[in-house]
Amino acid sequence: MAKKTKSAKGAAKARPRRERRFEPRASAQPSVVYVFGAAGALLMGAGAWEQFGALLSDAGPDPLKAAPYILAAGAVLAGIAIWIGTSAEPILRVGDSGLAVEKSGVRRMPWYAIERVEWRDETVRVTGKDDAGVAMTLDAPLGSHPQAAAWIAKEARVRVPAVVDVPTDAALPDALADAGQSLPLEPPQVVGRHCAESGKVISYEPDARVCPRCERVFHKAHVPEVCPCGASLADLRAAPA
Ligand SMILES: [Zn+2]
Repeated sequence: MAKKTKSAKGAAKARPRRERRFEPRASAQPSVVYVFGAAGALLMGAGAWEQFGALLSDAGPDPLKAAPYILAAGAVLAGIAIWIGTSAEPILRVGDSGLAVEKSGVRRMPWYAIERVEWRDETVRVTGKDDAGVAMTLDAPLGSHPQAAAWIAKEARVRVPAVVDVPTDAALPDALADAGQSLPLEPPQVVGRHCAESGKVISYEPDARVCPRCERVFHKAHVPEVCPCGASLADLRAAPA
């Protein structure tokens, strides 16, 4: 697999693929989460000691009547801390491979699988399919994900303009060049994919041609002049023999 990049020469330009990773703007102050978590842990410890201390050592106190309640109150506080700390928006990624949501794993929505990008309720909402072809919706609310929303709109207008329905006067911030964390991406996986034009399975990597804009994959013998995303594929077409 290490030779992949070399063998793909000509199939895909050696342009490094990248994506930006956006953490949500926290809806709760992190200090609130720590206070609840710490208080909960303290109470659970105290409650447990009062309840079970006598079993462990002679010096331990006899169980207090209140001990189970202290234990329970501690558990509730710790639970609140976990809830506040994790109910935030997921991490979003925007880049050459499309969009992605980080939520117990990374689920990707390639550019070519995006069916609609719209602006509603101060949110950039993207509907389409994930890379396995399963329906997927991704929300980038202005409140918690201002830069992800701005970058999705900016990239989608260039890559898949036909499906973008975000008014140019939408209250989006400018997409800042240094927003998010920049991550390198692996080259696109093309073997086993179906040619978007002929349906033919790509079984040999050098046969693949990848649209630089939406990353649709074509067999080299079936590259159309224009990709369904609107990009010209003239450069990828096999030269007439
Ligand atoms: Zn394309």
